[in-house]
Amino acid sequence: MSRDYAATAIAAGETARIVAARTTNLVREAQARHDSSPTVTAALGRLLTGASLLGLTLGGRERLTLQVNGDGPARFVVVDALPGGRVRGYPGRARAEVPLNAKGKFDVGGVIGRGSLHVTRIFNTGLPYTSAVPLQSGEIGDDLAYYLANSEQVPSVVAVGVLANPDGVLAAGGILAQLLPGADPATIAALESAAAALPQVSSLVRAGLTPEEMIERFAADLHPRVSHIQALSFSCPCERSRVVRALVSLGSDALREMAQAEEDTEATCDFCGQRYYFSPDEIGAILSDAAAEGTV
Ligand SMILES: [Zn+2]
Repeated sequence: MSRDYAATAIAAGETARIVAARTTNLVREAQARHDSSPTVTAALGRLLTGASLLGLTLGGRERLTLQVNGDGPARFVVVDALPGGRVRGYPGRARAEVPLNAKGKFDVGGVIGRGSLHVTRIFNTGLPYTSAVPLQSGEIGDDLAYYLANSEQVPSVVAVGVLANPDGVLAAGGILAQLLPGADPATIAALESAAAALPQVSSLVRAGLTPEEMIERFAADLHPRVSHIQALSFSCPCERSRVVRALVSLGSDALREMAQAEEDTEATCDFCGQRYYFSPDEIGAILSDAAAEGTV
């Protein structure tokens, strides 16, 4: 199976950046981990793809979180992009579903509803910076483009897509194009008309185009030159020691109760669905260690 990766190109005389990605495998993995319905998978997959693309514009050291909150049945979708092309994410209600829209497509805007997009960038100093914009359509691509143009003042075109049938995810991918400083304002119009003329990005992936070929297909007129390739994956850095810290933060009364329970305590990572189990004896040891360190 073709691996997931993104290609970054500089175009229009170094005044535009174009990133294209194939994300089929990572969207498939997200679907399997969360057992999400087709429309929620489309929403989660588009946001994971958008985060993969945006993550590559950040210089590789920042972390990025995208959260869409809406009044639709999915409630929210949250996604992290970590350095190295790693992304993870989960929906509020994985099994939520709505009918297909008037065009016979997954109604991502309907399953999200009206609400807001929150973007948090965590710089390598550890300081988070969050901004929020109202959702334009809840279809994700429009919403990310609106955020970039209005909150970061970077005129951008974003196309993200997931092609699926009842058996699963067939193809997923996206294209992000941004003006760089010094760009001719006519370039954004050229990018917008290129995006309007482009077939759905997920069907390009389905047809077997590589990210480099997607860039060429999207904007050959702007003479793109690929400068960077990055492998992409669904990857969660959760680990048992972090879960232990989360358990300790519940306090000594809660830990004592778990240590006296008949059954193991189960903790699940929201982002990846990984389950962690702790026997009553293990909880007892966590409690006494924490008491010795003065953390409970
Ligand atoms: Zn995890």
